[in-house]
Amino acid sequence: MNTQDKNQVSAFEVLKENSNYLRGTIKESLENPITGSLAPDDQLLIKFHGTYQQQNRDLDEERLKQKLEPLYSYLIRIRVPGGVTTPQQWLAIDALADKYADKELKLTTRQAFQFHAVLKRNLKKTIREINDTLLDTLAACGDVNRNVMSSANPFESPVHAEVTDDARKISAHLSPQTGAYHEIWLDKELVAGGEAESEPIYGKVYMPRKFKIAIAIPPRNDTDVLSNDLGFIAIVEKDILKGYNLTVGGGMAYTFGNTNTFPRVADVVGYFPKEKIVEVAEAVVVFQRDHGNRSDRKQARLKYTIEKYGLDYFKAELKRTHGIELEASKPYQFESQGDVYGWTQGADGYWHYTLFVEGGKLTDFNGISTKTAVKEIARIHDGTFILTGNQNLVIAQVSTTNKKKIEAILKKHQVKEGKSISQLRQHSIACAALPYCGLSFAEAERYLPTVVDKIDVILQQLGLFNEPISIRMTGCPNGCGRPFLGEIALVGRAPGRYNLYLGAGFKGDRLNKLYKEMLNEDEILATLEPLLTDYAHNRNEQERFGDFVIRKGYIEAVPAGNQFHS
Ligand code: SF4
Repeated sequence: MNTQDKNQVSAFEVLKENSNYLRGTIKESLENPITGSLAPDDQLLIKFHGTYQQQNRDLDEERLKQKLEPLYSYLIRIRVPGGVTTPQQWLAIDALADKYADKELKLTTRQAFQFHAVLKRNLKKTIREINDTLLDTLAACGDVNRNVMSSANPFESPVHAEVTDDARKISAHLSPQTGAYHEIWLDKELVAGGEAESEPIYGKVYMPRKFKIAIAIPPRNDTDVLSNDLGFIAIVEKDILKGYNLTVGGGMAYTFGNTNTFPRVADVVGYFPKEKIVEVAEAVVVFQRDHGNRSDRKQARLKYTIEKYGLDYFKAELKRTHGIELEASKPYQFESQGDVYGWTQGADGYWHYTLFVEGGKLTDFNGISTKTAVKEIARIHDGTFILTGNQNLVIAQVSTTNKKKIEAILKKHQVKEGKSISQLRQHSIACAALPYCGLSFAEAERYLPTVVDKIDVILQQLGLFNEPISIRMTGCPNGCGRPFLGEIALVGRAPGRYNLYLGAGFKGDRLNKLYKEMLNEDEILATLEPLLTDYAHNRNEQERFGDFVIRKGYIEAVPAGNQFHS
């Protein structure tokens, strides 16, 4: 276990150690009728249970005038390993969003559901009813392994099914074992045979920081696998899954003004046969558990541990602790990082429809009733729904008869599809940001559609409407929408002001770089228009926008995360 001097560890480490396996005083905090908030320590501990305390920042001024405390509420993240849910689960989750949250369903960039605006008095009921659907929120946040992502559609081929199964196995193996979750939220109802009060993998202080895992199947990098602490790239020969290339040390976040922090694309470190995937995942988690920085949370992700110790030491540790010897990495080729929209037919003969969900928000708004449409589809659907890593939804395993019915439902609710949506919008991602995220400096999910509307006008004029270009917007540089892998990225600096980053690889294999700072909307459009004009007229055949701006010298390529600021 980590031998870091106890005097040097951060207050958060002490809190975890003294929390009695994540219990703290959460129960008492929930029962306190005086405030909508939890005690400060419990606000940190409930993250491990899949929920964050937030406040509606839109209402802060008004509440202050009325001498009221902020309107506290809770984000709840529902873990869905591999993103696969049943129609029954979909209907139940949709109903819970109406009953306890803000009536909107957010699909996250990690294949999870997210509720916003759940009040404290409803928090326990909501989590309990989520568990009734056989989904849960345990470890959806906090210093543990998060939802394990896998390539979007397990029904596309037997290899895709096998990979999704591997994602589930890893998720189960790395789930926290504490009984606190069941005790606090479920009154221990779901516990069979009692819970062991120990954490065989994590120990009492869990991970130094959050830990993210994803799997991708080339040629699609639809999970942005290289943005994860730990990643697996499937190696397939003649339609048979042979094994995985292991990737380590990816991560998106940095802190403005702190050049010791930086986003990083993971290193591809070696190959192993598929049977070892759970063992390898555990070995990497154990490495980070024992070597991660526990005194400075801004240096605590695996990417900094890898920078500090180097890959040779890392590989030697895998061998020492788990007897794992990696072979040389196998060749692989990514072609894109987004989803493939519309209908496709799987190896099993069933149809699969990938629906574009802007900003991951299923809403009924402006005459387009995406939330209602999917609810109606769930009522007649006998296949599954799959949440993608790009905030979209696959309606999977559809029979030819139901295909027509689904098409009719989408049309009735005016859900936009195909060529009516620009390729830029189809490759857009936005984090939640305002009004609930306490860390956001600026809008993201509520604002990106407006910015894209305006860039779309430029793209139409230039004949680029159907040219795939990725754009990502976040309210701060914490990286929830993986902004530093967007060919165009807008990261909030202040209300209405964004840093513009350019030059990422379209395949999710190269970071972008800061181009201009503190731009307002007019400045963003005025900056992008000449670049897009040049691209429209002077790009090479099949040259991507991110590659073009580097070739033309607008921005330098970032060869590695530790050179992001140079
Ligand atoms: Fe909040 Fe920043 Fe994450 Fe966006 S990227 S959700 S603003 S922490």
